[in-house]
Amino acid sequence: MNKLRVRFAPSPTGYVHVGNARTALFNWLFARHHGGVLVLRIEDTDVERSKEEYETQLLEDLRWFGLDWDEGPDCGGPFAPYRQSERKDLYARYGQQLIDQGRAYYCFCSAEQLEAERQEALKAGRQPKYSGRCQKLPREEAAARVAAGEGAAVRLKIVDESFAWRDLVHGLTSFPGEVIGDPILLRSDGHPAYNYAVVIDDHLMGITHVIRGDDHISNTPRQLALYRAFDWQPPEFAHLSTILGPDRARLSKRHGATALQNFRDVGILPEALRNYLALLGWSPADGTTEILSPADLVAQFSLERVIKSPAVFDAEKLHWMNRHYMKASPPRRLAELSVPFLVRAGYLAEPVDAPTLAWLERVLDAVVKNISHLSELPDAVRLIFEYDAKSVISGEETRHVIEEAGPREVLGAFIPQALATGEMTYERFREIAKSVQRETGKKGKELFHPVRVALTGAVSGPELEKLIPIFEEGAKLSLPRPVKSVSQRLREFAAVAKL
Ligand code: GLU
Repeated sequence: MNKLRVRFAPSPTGYVHVGNARTALFNWLFARHHGGVLVLRIEDTDVERSKEEYETQLLEDLRWFGLDWDEGPDCGGPFAPYRQSERKDLYARYGQQLIDQGRAYYCFCSAEQLEAERQEALKAGRQPKYSGRCQKLPREEAAARVAAGEGAAVRLKIVDESFAWRDLVHGLTSFPGEVIGDPILLRSDGHPAYNYAVVIDDHLMGITHVIRGDDHISNTPRQLALYRAFDWQPPEFAHLSTILGPDRARLSKRHGATALQNFRDVGILPEALRNYLALLGWSPADGTTEILSPADLVAQFSLERVIKSPAVFDAEKLHWMNRHYMKASPPRRLAELSVPFLVRAGYLAEPVDAPTLAWLERVLDAVVKNISHLSELPDAVRLIFEYDAKSVISGEETRHVIEEAGPREVLGAFIPQALATGEMTYERFREIAKSVQRETGKKGKELFHPVRVALTGAVSGPELEKLIPIFEEGAKLSLPRPVKSVSQRLREFAAVAKL
């Protein structure tokens, strides 16, 4: 058997969104699983809507997402060019071949004429479909009009009764031929129609499997008609189900940010999104494993386990996976990824030096379990970067530590001992706590809660065992917003609380 070849064929008319990303991912998984070839083809025949910057962004987004391809506009390949706008000669040549064979014909109908026909059909309750008027023109007459410079589209003659294929996801799928009007292959300005260019390219590029969104199911009969007209063997088709929002309507901008870039911007890790999207419509053979590394996905992926019912996008589950991948990420990488979020919050300035980066690893280790994505980081680290004793003693949730006798007593005993210590370590902190316990008889929450509030300004947060060295180390760094050490915090606190 020839090598398996698949393609991802986006139109550069906007940003890559979840639906397209999932299509790209399934093509990639299928190719990698079978040791096949993945082709990236840019379908930029819609001149008005296609933009170069979308193409650039598209490649960048796909790379960020962790995909690679074997042939494409950036890396070339044996079937170049991989941009449809650069393949016009091919489309013209094959169009001419079909005309010469009598399988396609010139159509001179004006847009107004066609629109009037369409309206008439709609009024009569019929499905609009091209009447085939120009098919009746004698071939020589049509050719002479074109030779004389008259604009004409090229249309395919639909001669078949029905179109059927065994879809690898949907099973046997068929369309009666009579619902399909003769489709336009080339517009009068020479631009190829999607259904035409896609068939020429898939055939010439040796594509064996077309894996794409099920919004293209109704295009498939037109494409099959073309394969028949050329006497070409069609590829296998696998149409992936629609992705729905939580309200079960097709996922769209209405449901919030759905472009790959948006996920990147909020700090979703690419491996989390990849794992999550792989499970939208596919599941591994055991049906239960949810955390799958790229290698697991490649090893286990099969189209047989892709379901045809629509998949619902569940942001909660994506966040759960992201938490998993953040925790599993090498600390240095997570620290580097978090830099832009902390720069934006004003907590860091670029370039970030090596000691700061090493310290950031500790910070992330302390807070990572409290966040779903990196844009929640500034909130989670606020208690490290911002400490203001005045707001601690006036804060609704925190002022009880100076208003109530118990906490005041604990802090009155704790603070002088802490201030008498040089650099604070957690071991030293525990020793002081023990001595405060002996002195005041307070222990557990009664002892540690007031200390936490005085030190962090918050009633909850990461373990003090982690925070204490973070404060002490952080205070030695030069940061746009200096981190206060344990003693700075407690001194400020004692001053404003008049302890
Ligand atoms: N350019 C088409 C799209 O983005 C590709 C469809 C196909 O894969 O055939 O929807």
